[in-house]
Amino acid sequence: MSENSVDFSQVRAQFPILKVVENGQPLVYLDSGATSQKPLRVIEALDTYYRQENANVHRGVYGLSERATEKYEGARETVKQFLNAKSTKEIVFVRGTTEAINLVAHSWVSENLTEGDEVIVTEMEHHSNIVPWQLLRDKLGIRLTVLRMNQKGEVCLNALKGLVSEKTKFVSVTHMSNALGTINPVKEMVEIAHSVGAKIMIDGAQATPHMTVDVQDLDCDFYALSGHKMYGPTGIGVLYAKEDLLEVMPPYQGGGDMIYSVTFDKTEYNVLPYKFEAGTPHISGAIGLAAAMDFLNEVGLDNIAQHEAGLLAYATEQLSQIEGLRIIGEADKKGGVVSFVIEGVHPHDMATLMDQDGIAVRASHHCAMPVMQHFNIPATIRASFGVYNNFEDIDRLITSINEAKEMLV
Ligand SMILES: *Cc1c(COP(=O)(O)O)cnc(C)c1O
Repeated sequence: MSENSVDFSQVRAQFPILKVVENGQPLVYLDSGATSQKPLRVIEALDTYYRQENANVHRGVYGLSERATEKYEGARETVKQFLNAKSTKEIVFVRGTTEAINLVAHSWVSENLTEGDEVIVTEMEHHSNIVPWQLLRDKLGIRLTVLRMNQKGEVCLNALKGLVSEKTKFVSVTHMSNALGTINPVKEMVEIAHSVGAKIMIDGAQATPHMTVDVQDLDCDFYALSGHKMYGPTGIGVLYAKEDLLEVMPPYQGGGDMIYSVTFDKTEYNVLPYKFEAGTPHISGAIGLAAAMDFLNEVGLDNIAQHEAGLLAYATEQLSQIEGLRIIGEADKKGGVVSFVIEGVHPHDMATLMDQDGIAVRASHHCAMPVMQHFNIPATIRASFGVYNNFEDIDRLITSINEAKEMLV
């Protein structure tokens, strides 16, 4: 692997929380897949906003409100560039990936699908990309079809080609699996969906902190992301959608800001993207998300991908040497996530002991119970990496596992 031009110890130093002492030990944070920590510039963006710029947006004619609006709309421009969308009209601020998926389910999909039509998801989806489609299935009588994965945790493009038909109206797939780390060939999946005239949504919650995403290159119809998974605040996320689709979609929620005019007889909706942003938005969240995107751009997503690939390779090699340990998810293309089980040890017991060593890993089904069912296990221990992790974190992870194993087996 070639030298990385970025000094990642300097990147790590920008995260104040990593100086926290946990159970007498410096914190080793290996749960970025659940939520990431925040760099100083994100914390400072929120602080500055509330100290100096707070006002409601799109309303006041006074200077403070105009400045808040400028910041909020500036954040939308940052997101547009980050995803390489064509226009800021295609960028809708929502609470997170979950809300983005629900918006599309309740607007485009419930408007365009009728009984007998089909939605396809993969077997590795997060619950937030399963349950909204089940709710619609029960309401509309549509079919929900699952693209299965192999024992490595990969889906097969030929299987998808075999699955789609003229009944397939919508496909919704994760860009990167939070439970397994698998990176899906989404560009090819977009082509397959489009070949039968279906629209496709990509769940980018795990992808956006780790790799460059270009929605025009992917040609996806919808793309969802969560701020908190990519070094930004909680409670803010983005739905990207092609303008022509947003234009014909009915609003998801009604209220202030999403209207142009209201009488009791008739409401005219506001222009894009405001038609989909009812009520006072999460202004500070959007500003914090833009700061997180600036941070990612500055470090460089290619540098980040390279750094995390190094961590993943090292962790995989070290973990593989532990007797009785089985890695779950061995896709050829993987992001910085390693899930594993240890023979004779319950993941929760292991993670509880590891917490005593200051190591934060997740032991659960990772909101992807069908993945656990596929591998016939109740849960895994998952270490997921971010920009701030280093080889020492992995050494401490391995030591902790070995010590915990002594006590548990
Ligand atoms: C976290 C996650 C979600 C849900 O994101 P929220 O921020 O909780 O709305 C959806 N899909 C994947 C792959 C995730 O990792």
